[in-house]
Amino acid sequence: MAQLSDDCFAFGGPMMSVDEAVGLITARVNAIADLEAVALVDADGRVLAHDIAAPLPLPPFTNSAVDGYAVRSADLPRDAEQAFPLDGRIQAGGLAQAAIKPGHTARIFTGAPMPPDAETVFMQEDVRIDDAGRIVLPPGLKPGANVRPAGEDIPQGRVALRAGLRLRPQHVALAAAFGLTLLDVVRRIRVAVFSTGDELASPGEPRARSQLYDSNRFMLMAMLRRLGCEVSDLGILRDERISLADGLKQVAGRHDLILTTGGVSTGEEDHVKAAVESIGSLVLWRMAIKPGRPVAMGIIQGTPLIGLPGNPVASFVTFVHVVRPTVLALAGGLPERFLPIPVPAAFSYKKKIGRREYVRASLRRGADGMLEAVKFPREGAGLLSSLVETDGLVELGEDITRVEPGSSVGFLSYADLI
Ligand code: AMP
Ligand code: MG
Repeated sequence: MAQLSDDCFAFGGPMMSVDEAVGLITARVNAIADLEAVALVDADGRVLAHDIAAPLPLPPFTNSAVDGYAVRSADLPRDAEQAFPLDGRIQAGGLAQAAIKPGHTARIFTGAPMPPDAETVFMQEDVRIDDAGRIVLPPGLKPGANVRPAGEDIPQGRVALRAGLRLRPQHVALAAAFGLTLLDVVRRIRVAVFSTGDELASPGEPRARSQLYDSNRFMLMAMLRRLGCEVSDLGILRDERISLADGLKQVAGRHDLILTTGGVSTGEEDHVKAAVESIGSLVLWRMAIKPGRPVAMGIIQGTPLIGLPGNPVASFVTFVHVVRPTVLALAGGLPERFLPIPVPAAFSYKKKIGRREYVRASLRRGADGMLEAVKFPREGAGLLSSLVETDGLVELGEDITRVEPGSSVGFLSYADLI
């Protein structure tokens, strides 16, 4: 399991920027060293353990990029069209039996290997056939046209997939193109997930009149699965220090990360802080992020803990900005940066300087046909509808104090965030 010393979060300070907080935690968690080999079909989303250098060039051999006619370099028509008798036919998967005879052309198909001495292919759409059945090729084609040289995509030996890459379908395709069948990946990060709060009931269980169903736990578990984690659902802990401490202690040491939601503010009924302090060490990080409020970071018997706020939107936003990079760091993954796409705002907004804010927004086409960001009409951090009915988050950096209609803002789609 990930082992951390108790003093590694010994960092106080009043208000921390998101980048500072993430930098601190990702620098301090120890990456898991356990690897496993997975079949290509199971590799999507996993973190690659080693660099992969191309074991063969891609394409592996020089081949035609089109259906057409191959000619020898010396025979390319220069100034006028020229008729060539046909000599040979090479299909994809076939091999030319011999070099093309001088002054002749060979029928060739997309993906078929080029015959010896031939380096140019005429597209079949650009040729005509004369009365004698000869192929008439136009002048002016450049030597090497319509041909894909061996290694033009990736030369043999080049590092093509980096250790720490979170594999996507295109990476799996590249590994398959190299003929690989198994990939060494970091084992799944094991995360224990708790909700906290006396007001919570699990879906499927009786709900008292003063209770609401626990939604965060299911959102967080779904997000963790998307990050390739192995998730232990540990249900709901009551707002009581001793039972919280007992619950957390039981899972520490058996997981790489403990994730809780709720109970991390500084109210009288926010007991996560006291519980963690009684069995490990904890700092409350007041991150300069809205929605967010404090995020707790702690260590229990060497296992890192992140305590997210209870309001669903705050929980979502802090998950993507704190938990996601932490999970990636635990897996030894290369840092992934969100790149907000600039779009004009279709709203006005005021904000405090020095804090980063995320505004829930939808994209729509404006009068000029270009996309613009429309703010969700309400702002409460408890509004699940605000996450369900929007397309993503507008990121307003620390320096921004106001947004006017038409000003350019950075938009992050939910599809990018998780
Ligand atoms: P807390 O952070 O515990 O003070 O909770 C803040 C708000 O979020 C309260 O209104 C809670 O009822 C609500 N809340 C806390 N945990 C959850 C959860 N797991 N699912 C849905 N709402 C929650
Ligand atoms: Mg609570």
